[in-house]
Amino acid sequence: MVSSQFRDLLLKLGVPEDRLLVLEGKGGIVEDEFDGIRYVRFRDSARGFRRGTVVFENGETVLGFPHIKRIVQLENGVKRIFKSRPFYVEEKVDGYNVRVVKVEDRVLALTRGGFVCPFTTERIEDFVNFEFFKDYPNLILVGEMAGPESPYIVEGPPYVKEDIEFFLFDIQEKGTGKSLPVEERYKLAEEYGIPQVERFGMFDRSRLDELYDLIERLSREKREGIVMKSPDMRKIAKYVTPYANINDIKIGSHIFFDLPHGYFMGRVERLAFYLAEKHVKGEEFDEYAKALGKALLRPFVESIHEVANGGEVEETFTVRVKNISTAHRMVTHFERLGVNIHIEDIEDLKNGYWRITFKRVYPDATREIRELWNGLAF
Ligand code: ATP
Repeated sequence: MVSSQFRDLLLKLGVPEDRLLVLEGKGGIVEDEFDGIRYVRFRDSARGFRRGTVVFENGETVLGFPHIKRIVQLENGVKRIFKSRPFYVEEKVDGYNVRVVKVEDRVLALTRGGFVCPFTTERIEDFVNFEFFKDYPNLILVGEMAGPESPYIVEGPPYVKEDIEFFLFDIQEKGTGKSLPVEERYKLAEEYGIPQVERFGMFDRSRLDELYDLIERLSREKREGIVMKSPDMRKIAKYVTPYANINDIKIGSHIFFDLPHGYFMGRVERLAFYLAEKHVKGEEFDEYAKALGKALLRPFVESIHEVANGGEVEETFTVRVKNISTAHRMVTHFERLGVNIHIEDIEDLKNGYWRITFKRVYPDATREIRELWNGLAF
């Protein structure tokens, strides 16, 4: 349910009345609040309002971050999407998506799903120069939060050794969601000292060999992949390294029953296309096959042992916060996401930060394994 105040606002902003009724009926739009700031988030899309869109009380709208098309055959994908035109290549950083926006006098960090994230909102000033919003209150900084101490992602990129960092990859306009051209974004980020994803420059289909080399290098360096963008940001495509496909499977297999089978199959498929496109054979092929098998099986078997010995399928993760209350807010935030976590440990780092250790239990995966281990037949 949304209040009549928000309903009027959404109608004024152009959400069709019949769509609004349907969305309300099935919980597709939800009213929420953070520190007294009220907002509505879209769990489903509605004419121009993408999933993850957030509308604030004052009518300011942050559109959901759009889906990026995935290429699985690099050569043909690049030719099909960019034709003979040039495109910029940037690193695809493995973390979680945040949209950073100033609303009234607060800078907020929104998750992909349209929640104000208490953790990221508290930490974002450590990474982003807020002067930017004084000069450009109408712009949204979109980036990846990545590192080993992340509330949403198990691992970070290899070059973030501790804590977490922010990497800008898009600047969008409030209301329209329109992205600034690539060059303009690079310039603004430099001007305000906002950390960005690594940029590999301009490519086109005549330099495919260099693109292959780049993918190979990123894969060796345990990095996730690339995102290719036309200068005007109208055409965007992503490509993930074989390393990332196998590593995702490894991370996922620990909680095998909590993930849809498509999670694994999609990654096997992408790896197969890589091996086919690159004509990987012989020993190198065998190495990939072994790595894939191990990634799929080892953490899964370990989880079975854990449950067979009376334990649970669980994950621990740590984050650094400035206020312990932020950690408690994260517990509530996860509850709303339907995720069960609790605080395991609180450590004073004596530098203004607390290191909080959370434990997340996976009740469904645990139950499933327990039943099968106990002989359930089907
Ligand atoms: P979708 O398929 O809808 O894009 P997803 O979460 O499955 O969602 P991913 O495979 O994770 O998609 O890839 C898209 C995400 O990659 C973006 O939402 C963004 O958070 C992240 N990302 C990291 N680096 C970049 C970058 N340089 N440019 C654009 N996105 C990036």
